[in-house]
Amino acid sequence: MYSRNYPSRLLQDAVDELSSLPGVGRKSALRFALHLLKQPVDNVERFGQSIIRLSKETKFCKNCSMISDNDICDICRDAKRDTTIICVVENVRDVISIENTMQYNGLYHVLGGIISPMDGVGPTDLTIDQLLKRAENEEIKEVLIVLSTTMEGETTSFYLYKLLSKFNIKISTIARGIGFGDELEYTDEITLGRSIQNRQPFVPIK
Ligand SMILES: [Zn+2]
Repeated sequence: MYSRNYPSRLLQDAVDELSSLPGVGRKSALRFALHLLKQPVDNVERFGQSIIRLSKETKFCKNCSMISDNDICDICRDAKRDTTIICVVENVRDVISIENTMQYNGLYHVLGGIISPMDGVGPTDLTIDQLLKRAENEEIKEVLIVLSTTMEGETTSFYLYKLLSKFNIKISTIARGIGFGDELEYTDEITLGRSIQNRQPFVPIK
């Protein structure tokens, strides 16, 4: 069907796909599509292949659920890491933010989200079972919970706290007021790094 906005169906399809990316409106999507159209086909193929491979070939660490090229990620395999502490975060971006601070040398556990009944995300949709298995089977002395301070983040933190309290493990968190979770990547690295160094025991809000 002819569209008033797009002279070609192919162009419209590309704009539809590109504008499905977060933060990309249809105007930007059109700019990207026209830019790609001007590139040599080899470049565009490389571009497309990298996205296809990202989707098809990316693995998730069997231990911590971090993105990995192998079954077990580089962090879990790193012999220089402190294997007695696990930092629990919502997503891969949070791991990258904390790694950038260079102030944390333990392991991670990526939950894959936070408990959010409104969005239909319950505990079984997250990697909580795997975390409990790790608490049981690994020589863990401390779990550092670094989730967002939204209501969903607090609920999830408390839920984890209750489950982890069964184990003889120190449960800690970072100072309130530090933007993390979805905002973690925007917090400056020095502030985040300092708050990880100065982490404190988790105190549940009742
Ligand atoms: Zn891992």
